[in-house]
Amino acid sequence: MGYARQVYTQAENELNRRRTTAQDTAQRRLENFYAVCPEAEDVRRRIASTASRAAMAVLRSGNARETMEALKNENLSLQKQFADLLAAHGLTRADIEPQYTCKRCEDTGYVDGRICSCYRSLLKQIAYENLNRISPLTLSSFEDFSLLYYSDVSVNGERSDREQMRNIYDFCRRYADNFKKDSGNLFFTGATGLGKTHLSLAIAAEAINKGFGVVYGTAQTFALSLERERFTRTEESGGDTLDLLNDCDLLIIDDLGMEISSSYITATIYNVIDTRITLKKPTIISTNLSMQELEKRYNERFTSRIIGFYDRLIFRGKDIRMKKKLNPQNKQN
Ligand SMILES: [Zn+2]
Repeated sequence: MGYARQVYTQAENELNRRRTTAQDTAQRRLENFYAVCPEAEDVRRRIASTASRAAMAVLRSGNARETMEALKNENLSLQKQFADLLAAHGLTRADIEPQYTCKRCEDTGYVDGRICSCYRSLLKQIAYENLNRISPLTLSSFEDFSLLYYSDVSVNGERSDREQMRNIYDFCRRYADNFKKDSGNLFFTGATGLGKTHLSLAIAAEAINKGFGVVYGTAQTFALSLERERFTRTEESGGDTLDLLNDCDLLIIDDLGMEISSSYITATIYNVIDTRITLKKPTIISTNLSMQELEKRYNERFTSRIIGFYDRLIFRGKDIRMKKKLNPQNKQN
């Protein structure tokens, strides 16, 4: 999976930061140790000198093997001396050697010329962060979702709005609690301001807490990124929106149907949804549009994918955003 050049740069900066922090910390500890134990610095110098003498012996050849043997023994005994001095000060080698975040690549990002898994997960994390920066992911939780904004009046023996919303709330909560890579797809429909965004963000927050890669955005934001990357997609500028949409553990598309309309966008959104169904990767879609309106905007294939592969949750009530404004203290009830 390819990322924008900028993502690689950010990841490399982070690796550099980790590496230099580890090295600087070790260097500072070593200097502190030398300050209280000057003898150790002297031993270290002699260790270095055995190494350079060994290199010279190899160059001069002659009686290299004997010389090497002697130097090796000298080196071992100096190493032992150094370790004893450390121990005498209550220290171990680990205290004066760099403690890298990743032991495998020592925070260089590469092992034997191949990209290390730590670098790979850093790239992914940064790409998600960049895409999610535009959204209020931290602003919504299940705890601050109030059912009191929904009417508990039941008409003609039908379920009240509040009862309907309680069912949806419970369903979403269970979904979030049990979230895994192959969880099902959800389709939130209903008018604006009934809590669709709130509940999808609450699910996103839970999934992120569990360590899943979540991408959240409005259909419009995705459409703008996709359009931009469609024409600038080169080695340099990259463009990873499409990859992320297809690849992330949980994709949340808010406000479907409100994006700029073009045949490219419509086809791309259909393909993303279709790809994720094939890969059994969960997607949550919310929309103000009815099924008929969606069918007109996309096509019949699109709506039949939704009907066949998504759990549909129908949000009901009056626009709660207005009620919140009029009666903000309700939230604490
Ligand atoms: Zn690594």
